[in-house]
Amino acid sequence: MPQLAQRVGRAKPSAIMVIAEKAKQLKAAGRDIISFSIGVPNFLPGEHVYAAARESLSHDSGQYGSNRGAEALLDAFLKHIEALGFSGYTRMNLSIGIGAKQVLYNLAEALLDEGDEICFAAPYWTTYRDIADIVGAKTNVMHCGPERNYKLTPSQLDAALARKPKVFLFNNPSNPTGMVYTGEEIAALAEVLVKHPDTWVITDDIYNSMVFDGLGYHNFVFAKPELRERVIFVDSVSKTYGMPGWRVGLIAGPEVVAKAITTLNSNHITSLPEVITAAAVAALSGPQDIPKAKCAEFAGKRDTVVAALNAIPGVVCPRPQGAFYAFPDISVAFGKSHNGTKIDSDVEFCAALLEAKGVACVPGSAFGEPRALRISYTCPSAQLEPGLQRIQQFFAELV
Ligand code: PLP
Repeated sequence: MPQLAQRVGRAKPSAIMVIAEKAKQLKAAGRDIISFSIGVPNFLPGEHVYAAARESLSHDSGQYGSNRGAEALLDAFLKHIEALGFSGYTRMNLSIGIGAKQVLYNLAEALLDEGDEICFAAPYWTTYRDIADIVGAKTNVMHCGPERNYKLTPSQLDAALARKPKVFLFNNPSNPTGMVYTGEEIAALAEVLVKHPDTWVITDDIYNSMVFDGLGYHNFVFAKPELRERVIFVDSVSKTYGMPGWRVGLIAGPEVVAKAITTLNSNHITSLPEVITAAAVAALSGPQDIPKAKCAEFAGKRDTVVAALNAIPGVVCPRPQGAFYAFPDISVAFGKSHNGTKIDSDVEFCAALLEAKGVACVPGSAFGEPRALRISYTCPSAQLEPGLQRIQQFFAELV
């Protein structure tokens, strides 16, 4: 019997999908389930996006497209990132992929040889570790607990970069914590990056349109423009425009990296489909009122979630300032029981909560923080408060 490649043995199914699947099964069996598990924006793009897709269909060429991305898409993305604060980039600095996830996988292939080191902060988006494992990279995880709002400090970064990792992978706003770095915090980390010229820096900032409290979006290259030689900014239409199923991811970075991604594209994905490209162009260059309205809505929901969680004795929920996640420390429940079910870990907590109250959350250990769980709060408002009340009841019933 032939064997699978070793790298497949290192690949694990996403922990987030496992919980979402279990919630789906319970729902199909007639249970009343409220899902806080999957990180989907839960809104659809504007009509102009669908109109652009229909229009594109009516004169579809049926052909392969550009490995780098169609010129119209690259130009729309250039304008979009200029509005964010990136200046001096050209089409040669850009490339595309099938969503940010595939872009990140491509970047790992382009930047990491087997045995190279990649460092990132925990809590981290689960896929970071999975991609590193698949390409055979070593990971150095910098732990950032709730006591410091899950944020990386300059001294922590300095120590990690002293090991000369090949890649530092950064995520702002954060999935799973919803934390956002201020302009000052980004500038302080950028100071450290300048001192370590041997490391590529990936900023996976796909939630950049969902920043609350007037904090604004900041990138290392705004603070230290010389970092443009090493910083790769990753973006996506998934969360900003309610288009996770359309699968469009983009990068802006050094020409050499954009070229490498384009070459890899020519070997696996070839190009984005024409209709999808037209929709993405319309999203990026059309009216931005839906993302703005959603950002305001999520900021309001954030307030509801944080207030409900921090009202539970012993639960600590640092206040998120972006994306649509909250990441409370629920370790106060460990060692207790619910209806005779002993809870000793985040995984047992989430399983018992789903079983007893029909509320699906993702265990924090999936993100490298086993004291916490992730709540994705984009569900309809009518479900949000009842879901939070069920969590409060669950805690009240612990003995
Ligand atoms: N990066 C982060 C931090 C994410 O949370 C996600 C999706 O959840 C992605 C990347 C992937 O996004 P896309 O849908 O563009 O593949």
